[in-house]
Amino acid sequence: MTRSQELFDKASRVIPGGVNSPVRAFKGVGGTPVFFKEGKGAYIIDEDGDKYVDYIGSWGPMILGHGHPAVLGAIHKQVDIGLSFGAPTAVEIEAAEKVCQLVPSIEKVRMVSSGTEATMSAIRLARGYTKRDKLIKFEGCYHGHADSLLVKAGSGALTLGVPSSPGIPEDLAKHTVTLEYNNLNQVAETLADIGDQVACIIIEPVAGNMNCIPPVEGFLEGLRTLCDEHGVVLIFDEVMTGFRTALGCAQSVYNITPDLTTLGKVIGGGMPVGAFGGKAEIMDYIAPTGPVYQAGTLSGNPVAMTAGLAVLNEISKPGFFEALTEKTTLLIEGLQQRADAAGIPFTTSQVGAMFGLFFTDQDKVTSFEQATACDMERFQKFFHLMLEQGVYLAPSAYEAGFVSAAHDDEAIQHTLDAAEKAFAQL
Ligand code: PMP
Repeated sequence: MTRSQELFDKASRVIPGGVNSPVRAFKGVGGTPVFFKEGKGAYIIDEDGDKYVDYIGSWGPMILGHGHPAVLGAIHKQVDIGLSFGAPTAVEIEAAEKVCQLVPSIEKVRMVSSGTEATMSAIRLARGYTKRDKLIKFEGCYHGHADSLLVKAGSGALTLGVPSSPGIPEDLAKHTVTLEYNNLNQVAETLADIGDQVACIIIEPVAGNMNCIPPVEGFLEGLRTLCDEHGVVLIFDEVMTGFRTALGCAQSVYNITPDLTTLGKVIGGGMPVGAFGGKAEIMDYIAPTGPVYQAGTLSGNPVAMTAGLAVLNEISKPGFFEALTEKTTLLIEGLQQRADAAGIPFTTSQVGAMFGLFFTDQDKVTSFEQATACDMERFQKFFHLMLEQGVYLAPSAYEAGFVSAAHDDEAIQHTLDAAEKAFAQL
């Protein structure tokens, strides 16, 4: 028995399913989850002492790799002088100023402790600001586990939303409309019908929770125009894409100005941080300036702010994103070549340092329907073949992958050599 198996048995006795977040349980790929004890640069080391090239990076935050000296140094300094005060600190201003400087659509920003809190709060703010109840989201996008967001489409796009988890009141779910990602006509038709009831549209500008699906040309622009026409607040959920697709987030890649943006992951550098921000006029609607309530005991926590700020400073260095994007391209082009050579139907996607791998004969995957039609069995086999060779990919075919600045030529070459063997065995 491996130590991971031992620990999983032990964990399952006191933690539901043995994990503190469901995807970690390996349900999507089968087998026992790997328990980790250490991270160094591009690598993570498990409880059995095995080393893996890490393409999850804690689901996005570890953009500098594990144990970056600038981040650790900043954290150590802060830890020595104070963990938390529940009162204003200077470092939270510095972090907010940095975010506003890097993302011009964010005029004011409020820090929270997770991506879920960020999206939940942004939606409450949009509802309070517009005095409307409905929200539009897209199938295949994930925005955390707030009640209004764990909702799926009813029998048709325009029918009332239904809870996608027990515990969510139908009365609440009915206010959520779920439409098809990359289908602008459907959004236009829906808004023509119920536009005056819709508070906000929330979208991942690059979908990263159904593998990695970039927006088709004109989709985000179209959403911006439609939101303006109908007085709807456009929320870009950049919890995953923020400071991951580009220094100015995905909104800078596609040149769209959302009304509100939600952030998480990279902005905390591995500490629990989320944020939501945008137009000052809307943000001033939040307490204590405005009537919409939102709060947090650990919001703007000085250790977390210090860590996030250190990461933002590192990724702002000239050439950082160019180099990181290049590494990511090297990886996915290498994977494509090896799949092609082995005759495996396969395609990829990439925006900045975020990528997707699809076992499909389609040239390009642009919809949730196409993402779910990929060969899941092949993905599962590929995942385990890579894991056995020391490459840790997301244990689900519906997750994006992440490359860090610490992924050097050696780590990428190791990945490509492993993939060559894996493709040959598929
Ligand atoms: N939005 C997006 C786009 C996400 O990918 C996630 C988490 N993967 C969330 C929100 C929720 O963030 P958290 O897990 O920090 O609550």
